[in-house]
Amino acid sequence: MLRRKTVNTVFILLTVLLLGLSFFTVVPLIVYFLFFFFWLLITICGSFFIRWNYHYKSLHSNKNITNNFVAITFDDGPHPQYTPQVLNLLKKHNAKATFFCIGQNVEQHPNLFKAIIDDGHTVGNHTFSHARSFGFFNEEEVSKELYKTIDLIKSISGLQMKLYRPAFGVTNPSIAKSVKKLNLTSIGWNVRSLDTTPRNESMVLKRITSKISKGDIVLLHDTSEKSVRVLERLLLFLEEKKLKSVTVDQILQIKAYE
Ligand SMILES: [Zn+2]
Repeated sequence: MLRRKTVNTVFILLTVLLLGLSFFTVVPLIVYFLFFFFWLLITICGSFFIRWNYHYKSLHSNKNITNNFVAITFDDGPHPQYTPQVLNLLKKHNAKATFFCIGQNVEQHPNLFKAIIDDGHTVGNHTFSHARSFGFFNEEEVSKELYKTIDLIKSISGLQMKLYRPAFGVTNPSIAKSVKKLNLTSIGWNVRSLDTTPRNESMVLKRITSKISKGDIVLLHDTSEKSVRVLERLLLFLEEKKLKSVTVDQILQIKAYE
């Protein structure tokens, strides 16, 4: 797969080559534009498709696992209305999950956050504000966001989180530097439900069930009635297929906390 450093090096070398060539012959301006366009296209795709591991490596699944485990993950909570419903369903089906929480939601609902931990689920960092402009934050601003959430969770639970789920799935050089500096493990997914899009419940469920197999990490959100209904049907499906949902640290065999 493409990596930022390799792509940038290749484009710089080719540009230098073109500039060198321009001393001997006329290189049309369109060639430079095309070069820049392709570089930009690759960079944008690499920033939005977390599974490319373009800016840095995230963990997306563990296909080597021998147990019939999958890992359901929830982003953007805790939510006062839907997170309790999610917790009840998980308890009913004896399933574990991972919640990538937004710091300011934890600040507003600390007891709900504690309930997630008390039920034996794993928690991870999903920024403090989940700002729409997060992808444009510089390294200092990214680190401030991530550290603020780490600090808050430590003060509430005593746990020092190591796992980070990129907001909007976006990665870039600032986030890469911050993840490295704070010694975090970036967690992606390989089954994206698209439950926050206008797709209906059955369509979302089908996106998951049509491809899920052991070792997979599923992305859901504990922020809507639709996602709760999808989870209810998904847990029944997993039981039928003898698949068990566990936490991401268990499926990836890594540490969730320092
Ligand atoms: Zn999110």
